[in-house]
Amino acid sequence: VVSVNGLVKSFGPHRVLNGVSFDVRRGEVVVVLGPSGSGKSTMLRCVNFLETFEGGTITVDGAPVGYRSDGQGRRRMLDEKMVAENRERVGMVFQSFNLFSHRTVLQNVMMGPVSVQHRDKSEVRKQALELLEKVGMAEKADQYPARLSGGQQQRVAIARALAMRPAVMLFDEATSALDPELVGEVLRVMRELATEGMTMVVVTHEMSFAREVADRVIFMDGGAIVEQGVPHEIMANPQTERFRSFLGTDR
Ligand code: ATP
Ligand code: MG
Repeated sequence: VVSVNGLVKSFGPHRVLNGVSFDVRRGEVVVVLGPSGSGKSTMLRCVNFLETFEGGTITVDGAPVGYRSDGQGRRRMLDEKMVAENRERVGMVFQSFNLFSHRTVLQNVMMGPVSVQHRDKSEVRKQALELLEKVGMAEKADQYPARLSGGQQQRVAIARALAMRPAVMLFDEATSALDPELVGEVLRVMRELATEGMTMVVVTHEMSFAREVADRVIFMDGGAIVEQGVPHEIMANPQTERFRSFLGTDR
């Protein structure tokens, strides 16, 4: 579903991603671990083309992200329409919940499919209520986000991303801003999605989620992938000192 090849990204003189390559197959759950500043968020943001990048290629469902080759070895930025189409294929859930505060829960979930995808409103409404049911938020459909806990808001944010019927879901520390007692309810929803076969890339510090849910774990450091493999192998037996010290006593 996702193919990242030789991704290079700098902010000014500071190179943040230094040739990152990986693939995510349909139904696969990839968990990305790494210390602060290792480039995890930047990498996810490139997949959605929320960041430009100066080297490498990314495709989602076979479609190039951000740039195309002009046939003469140069690359050209894709037009807005293609960028927008790509973003529809990619659902993203951030650390901050980013719900529209002046819209109800149901309106938040329906907004993208209705206004961006121009789908039939009654069909979208039905699907939105099903998604809210799935994340355990159906009874809050008519509430405004401010009345919800962080965990509830984050579950609505997940339903909202799913409503666009993305090919892949990206999670960037979706539980990091939550009070500890609310982390579990969001992880439970993510775990259920994984079980149902959703293709997911998950940046998280939740080691037990990585160990139990990931098909594959990627460890990034200094803008590069340092190790990757099935969780019980690489987490039990890290090959590099960097990954070993990252895992620390949590292993
Ligand atoms: P964390 O675990 O803290 O979220 P991360 O692995 O997600 O870290 P990134 O946010 O991708 O790391 O940042 C990688 C590097 O890029 C850092 O050195 C950061 O300071 C830098 N960086 C990120 N965004 C920008 C920006 N908009 N402008 C300049 N530098 C940036
Ligand atoms: Mg980050």
